[in-house]
Amino acid sequence: MRAASTVLSEVFGFDAFRPGQEDIVTSVASGENVLAIMPTGGGKSLCYQLPALLREGVTVVISPLIALMRDQVRALRAAGVEAGALTSGNTDEETAQVWEAIEAGRLKLLYIAPERLASGAALGMLRQIGVGLIAVDEAHCVSQWGHDFRPDYLRIGELQRALDVPIAAFTATADAETREEIIGRLFGAQPPKVFLHGFDRPNLHLAFAAKDNPRKQILQFAAARKGQSGIVYCGTRAKTESLAKALRDEGHQALHYHGGMDPQERRETEASFQREDGLIVVATVAFGMGVDKPDIRWVAHADLPKSIEAYYQEIGRAGRDGAPAETFTLFGPDDIRLRRSQIDEGLAPPERRAADHARLNALLGLAEALKCRRTQLLAYFGEEDVTCGKCDLCDTPPEVFDGTEAVRKALSAILRTGEWFGTGHLIDILLGNETDKVRERGHDALPTFGVGREYDKRQWQAVFRQMMGHDLVRPNPERHGALTMTERARPVLRDEERVELRRDTIRITSRRPAAKT
Ligand code: ADP
Ligand code: ZN
Repeated sequence: MRAASTVLSEVFGFDAFRPGQEDIVTSVASGENVLAIMPTGGGKSLCYQLPALLREGVTVVISPLIALMRDQVRALRAAGVEAGALTSGNTDEETAQVWEAIEAGRLKLLYIAPERLASGAALGMLRQIGVGLIAVDEAHCVSQWGHDFRPDYLRIGELQRALDVPIAAFTATADAETREEIIGRLFGAQPPKVFLHGFDRPNLHLAFAAKDNPRKQILQFAAARKGQSGIVYCGTRAKTESLAKALRDEGHQALHYHGGMDPQERRETEASFQREDGLIVVATVAFGMGVDKPDIRWVAHADLPKSIEAYYQEIGRAGRDGAPAETFTLFGPDDIRLRRSQIDEGLAPPERRAADHARLNALLGLAEALKCRRTQLLAYFGEEDVTCGKCDLCDTPPEVFDGTEAVRKALSAILRTGEWFGTGHLIDILLGNETDKVRERGHDALPTFGVGREYDKRQWQAVFRQMMGHDLVRPNPERHGALTMTERARPVLRDEERVELRRDTIRITSRRPAAKT
């Protein structure tokens, strides 16, 4: 069986599991009955799509929303996965294609609208095609007391008995009564393994810092935690070696680890880390998959992680024992440039690249956050009502200033160019740079042209990043990451709301002359 993490990156193009996903995927792939409760946007679909590729036979997905099914089928096919849907919205040609794939034994995922289950024909058909798993999306639809009751969902239990295959059910509705009802109606005599955990890791302290002197910053962080087990993640193999040496020079026990070392040496490092107390491993992201050490007291990032998912997964290796643990993440303009070019120069198709940029933006928003990082991190994964008190911004609220004017200039540049451009071009407009692109589009004639010369390019980048962090603008994946304004920005444009920006990431050092250059 292929490893789940390999399929995650090769087929889905993700660099890390989201919170909760890995355990659910493992359980579903191994054929257990599963009920998973995850917030909306948490990434439920992957929890049945990925096991579908690891398991024999067809995975039947029952979902109440035809539009959603069709989206998923389209996305899966674009990723090279044989998937099809049988819904009332199909054209004859689509239906014929699905049948052809079934008959050829190629189909891995078959999406079915619940209404289909009402006909005996569907049941007979499903019996013949070698179903290996039933996945039920929006499983609360089986609950009569819920707001979304779908009578046809009641037939799923019958289907399971006829096919005798495991069921994996998913919902965002977590109240105990609905849960019990789902279990009773879908699983009957074989109760599922229930996954219901919040994504919060309350014992982890979260902190970020802009890179100033990164080596010194890491050494200082480690010096204050001498004798504790910790991991430092670095962006390059060379850096793991030089930083490990620098730590040893300061009297720490430190080893490096990366994918270029021979397997024997890697295993030895893993074993020492596991066994010994107070060892620091300075590693690339290759380190961690097989590490199961409960008492890692800290995780530091000498370079910005790849995405917000990777960040969560990497810091999550600290404090598995539940005792307090600390995390510290450095970020700087070079990291951002590196991560962007890795995405742009990768082999992924354009839609995926845009989504990767969006995930990187989410991490940058977190790095530039004004208020509680935990709240912002968990909101990204769909979780609300978070209590924190354990992050650097709750400890010491940052110095802020009224950035409304800058934000309004930026929004105006976005709107006057029809929400079709990314930060680079928008900043050229604000700075009054007469680039070819600016001239070709006639953007030098806009009233916004050159109105932002009080900041330089880097400062505007910080403004845009913070705007993304405040969710005033979002990169539009359908327009190659062009920035679009969100509803939250409207009151700012109408002058009904002010926006605060962090002072420390926009040090107003250089004031350029207002004259055109
Ligand atoms: P839900 O059904 O839980 O509301 P989805 O399955 O639609 O959520 O996933 C929400 C978004 O998260 C999708 O855009 C999906 O591509 C993305 N996503 C899911 N898993 C991951 C992951 N491991 N890394 C990055 N993005 C992910
Ligand atoms: Zn906080």
